[in-house]
Amino acid sequence: MRKIKLVAIFIIAITVVYAQKQPKNVVFIIGDGMGIAHIYAGMVANGNQLQMERFKNLGFSKTYSSNNFTTDSGAGGTALACGVKTKNGMIGMTPDSVAAESILEVTEKNGLSTGMVTTCDMTHATPASFIAHQVSRKMTQEIAADFLKTDIDVFIGGGRKNFEKRDDNRNLTNELKAKNYNIAYTLDEVKKIKSGKLAGLLDDEHNPPMPERGDMLPDATMAALDILDNNKKGFFLMIEGSQIDWAAHNNDAGQIVKEVLDLDKTIGKVLDYAVKNKNTLVIVTADHETGGFTMPKGNMAKKEFTGAFSTKDHSGVLVPVFAFGPGAENFTGFMENTSFKNKLIKLLKLKN
Ligand code: MG
Ligand code: ZN
Repeated sequence: MRKIKLVAIFIIAITVVYAQKQPKNVVFIIGDGMGIAHIYAGMVANGNQLQMERFKNLGFSKTYSSNNFTTDSGAGGTALACGVKTKNGMIGMTPDSVAAESILEVTEKNGLSTGMVTTCDMTHATPASFIAHQVSRKMTQEIAADFLKTDIDVFIGGGRKNFEKRDDNRNLTNELKAKNYNIAYTLDEVKKIKSGKLAGLLDDEHNPPMPERGDMLPDATMAALDILDNNKKGFFLMIEGSQIDWAAHNNDAGQIVKEVLDLDKTIGKVLDYAVKNKNTLVIVTADHETGGFTMPKGNMAKKEFTGAFSTKDHSGVLVPVFAFGPGAENFTGFMENTSFKNKLIKLLKLKN
């Protein structure tokens, strides 16, 4: 009898330990173009501290695409979302133009809630890679129409034009309404929606840069979490700091700092959420580095640095990976950018 009791206790203990290791929710955060130097620029300017320092599981992601040493955000996003290396410019497809299912689509198929929050047109390469399947990132109207083929619960960003002023005369906002989506055109309207589905199209094209955008990214992120966590089965949320990339294309170190600190503030809020909701896995990475950015000189006490760039385009170097929460240890060391999808499918025990 005593033996049976001990075995039962042992099994319960194993189950508890095991359950703690399995995430229910995933928040996947992408800093577009965000390399080590971009992060360090934000850290120096912020007085030698960032929310990102709360991550204890760190790794590196190899970003090369199927046809280029240096990826674009289409192939980079597709690798992260769909687990395949593809040609630069392609969205959610293999190099031979076959649709590849994204982690967002797999989670949705398994009954989890899904969402995306970005600071750019929703049809831009990074968010598009998680939901659309098109041979070119330039097919933004086709990408917008792909949103209607899914049951994504929440998306907040820009891109109203691609949904409403279309060459095919479809009004996708009306079609979303018919599919029971709440439509929000402002952040205040977003904040009023507490359940159901939400399409937040806050700008005609891209959302404005920092500081004009204010707290759009952190606030929209918290609004999305508030809706998505109504689902007991869990959720997958992709968040993108889209404009770090653009500041780096412009070789504008000051603007890189502003965009990195906006994403870092958002990351801090997500980490606070994950501390409270212990079944939440948070991953931060980049699709590629932009600018070949570095800092030959600086002064930590004065929160200053001198920035230098080696290109106005992307570079091919490794980008960092940070993970927090149950399963975080699976995202340490060196990894291919195609490894995230299958690791998440395993961790969430999804049927593929
Ligand atoms: Mg992007
Ligand atoms: Zn770029």
